[in-house]
Amino acid sequence: MMGPAHSLSGAAAWLAVGAVAAGLDHPMPWPTVLVGALICAGAALAPDLDHQAATISRAFGPLSRGLCKVVDAIAHATYKATRKAGDPRRAGGHRTLTHTWVWAVLVGGGFSAAAVYGGRWAVLVILFIHMVLAVEGLLWRQARGAHDVLVWLLGATSAWMLADVLDDPGNGKDWLFTQPGQHYLWIGLPIVLGSLVHCLGDALTVSGCPVLWPIPIGRRRWYPIGPPKFMRFRAGSWVEIKVLTPVFFVVGGGCALGALGVLG
Ligand SMILES: [Zn+2]
Repeated sequence: MMGPAHSLSGAAAWLAVGAVAAGLDHPMPWPTVLVGALICAGAALAPDLDHQAATISRAFGPLSRGLCKVVDAIAHATYKATRKAGDPRRAGGHRTLTHTWVWAVLVGGGFSAAAVYGGRWAVLVILFIHMVLAVEGLLWRQARGAHDVLVWLLGATSAWMLADVLDDPGNGKDWLFTQPGQHYLWIGLPIVLGSLVHCLGDALTVSGCPVLWPIPIGRRRWYPIGPPKFMRFRAGSWVEIKVLTPVFFVVGGGCALGALGVLG
């Protein structure tokens, strides 16, 4: 899928978690609903860090372009080292390591640890990265027309304001993990979820997604999971733009009402 559909599905997925959490008596304070949805929208672009032309690889200038090269090399090396007889040879790492549940958990866990042990600046950096990505994904065309520096400024100011809001007692920094010393532990959850939602989105497209690696399936360890061929569509096709995107919008909106307790 393309950026906007990935990001919107990420936001909708977090809002659905919010609705479920409200149903299970762990309602999120509204800043956790909002910030989590934005983080998840940003994180839903992140697995494409293995692709030079992807939004995330361009989003932070030379920094992300350099990181993209490193990630692609690691992903390709991992593919070559772990492929079984049934996995074809391939030239690069796109849609391999970063498109697995293992990567999602590692990245989410890493950011959670950074937030818990790194203090306010770590939280600000995590928010900044994901707010920039959320702007790039959700405001796709507008963000492409704008100068990178403007998007970074928007990311930085929103990160700063949102961190202040979350920091207020009862406003969400201790959602779900309430013990002292666990503040912001939840911040990895929308990051894991965003990565997985990205993989699901890619699985729906023609080439599938090896999300279950390293669990072997038949003669393959990088089996591209996906629905039956006739249900798949090309990235950027009318199904994605005219059907899925509006569906994500409506579902996300409904879940947001549930998450915020508006529906009772
Ligand atoms: Zn992808």
